[in-house]
Amino acid sequence: CTIDKDELVSPTCDVTFKEINEINGKIRKDLVSLVGTDFFKYFKLDLYKQCAFWDDNNGFCVNRACAVDVVEDWDNLPEYWQPEVLGGLDKVNGTSGSDDECKFLQDLCGGADGSAKQTEPDIDYCDIGDFINSQAVLVDLSANPERFTGYGGQESALIWSSIYRENCFSPGEMGQSLAKSVFYRLVSGLHASIATHLSNDHLNTETGKWEPDLELFMARVGNFPERVANVYFNYAVVSKALWKIKPYLSHLSFCNSYNQDVKSMIMNILSRLDSNVFNEDLIFEDELSSKVKDDFRARFKNVTKIMDCVHCDRCRLWGKVQTTGYATSLKILFELDDGDEESKQQVVDKLTKYELIALFNTFDRLSKSIESINNFERLYEIQAAGG
Ligand code: FAD
Repeated sequence: CTIDKDELVSPTCDVTFKEINEINGKIRKDLVSLVGTDFFKYFKLDLYKQCAFWDDNNGFCVNRACAVDVVEDWDNLPEYWQPEVLGGLDKVNGTSGSDDECKFLQDLCGGADGSAKQTEPDIDYCDIGDFINSQAVLVDLSANPERFTGYGGQESALIWSSIYRENCFSPGEMGQSLAKSVFYRLVSGLHASIATHLSNDHLNTETGKWEPDLELFMARVGNFPERVANVYFNYAVVSKALWKIKPYLSHLSFCNSYNQDVKSMIMNILSRLDSNVFNEDLIFEDELSSKVKDDFRARFKNVTKIMDCVHCDRCRLWGKVQTTGYATSLKILFELDDGDEESKQQVVDKLTKYELIALFNTFDRLSKSIESINNFERLYEIQAAGG
């Protein structure tokens, strides 16, 4: 890889590749512990949702590695993930009054009352109603690692080309080309991060072991410095969003049943992030057409919906987690600036539990990708030295 580590990650980031490596080195251990806690390791998604864009009856992935192990053994789950408590979450978000066992559910969902929401402008970059849909299943992310599944061929190529095709803003609009470049980098960085994970946790069919495959990594990511840079770009975007919500998390409380350390873990990680990592103000400057921003939001929402067309359940799970994590980051970066402190606090209060889980897990995925990229670089040097 021919990246100069002392260069800035992008003109919108006042941070070098080397500095991101250093930040990542400092937070990696805490982030791994955080996403392993009971609060952050579960996610809900609808595995049977119909693809909204085309008839997808033709494709499915039959490999065992494509499957998702859904949580069915509810008795062994901690109390706060039991159905009646999750039902409580639905109530907070939707219709009846709230009598939740855990105060944090209210804190995380704020007063997001369904009827009030409809009259508010849409600031979401994904469909947050998906998580409370009655068909959604609960999945333990730690039991379903993101790794090589064998999903590929025309089916995955169709998904990727549809995602890249979303990057098509009205020509001639002010700010259109910068928005287009950011959109492309986000998608390409996601694509490269997924390719890094599947190369890092790859099944060696000769030994039967899951291990890093340097050749595959080079073919998918390492030989394309632009793809590596886009993973760092995404790291900058998500870490800036996390940095930005820190002042508004102070009242966040986790109920007693939760790991008491969760909040201090979060604060430990956030306090080591750097505000210079990404300058979101350069993207949609005041004088730029808000049409481009609306377009950007609608098109990114489509990317999150395209995940329903992915045939491999495991890929769909991680695709949904990560596109939701990016959507949440974009909402924080681009919708938190308008208004006073109180309205900013409200935007953060209305983040749902699933957006928060997706946000931290997406950051962990990028953090792991950066760790793996550095590891692949060492393997490459050893190989080049004839080792
Ligand atoms: P693909 O990765 O399918 O790429 C298609 C084309 O896009 C390439 O030919 C290239 O021209 C271009 N391209 C590739 N990478 C980039 C980039 N970073 N930036 C810009 N352009 C690029 N497989 C797994 O094994 N495990 C998973 O967890 C997994 N998750 C997935 C999640 C989603 C949402 C999708 C759509 C696919 C997932 N896949 C996963 C499949 C995987 O991404 C590849 O599609 C598959 O491995 C086939 O790879 P390929 O070499 O044919 O090229």
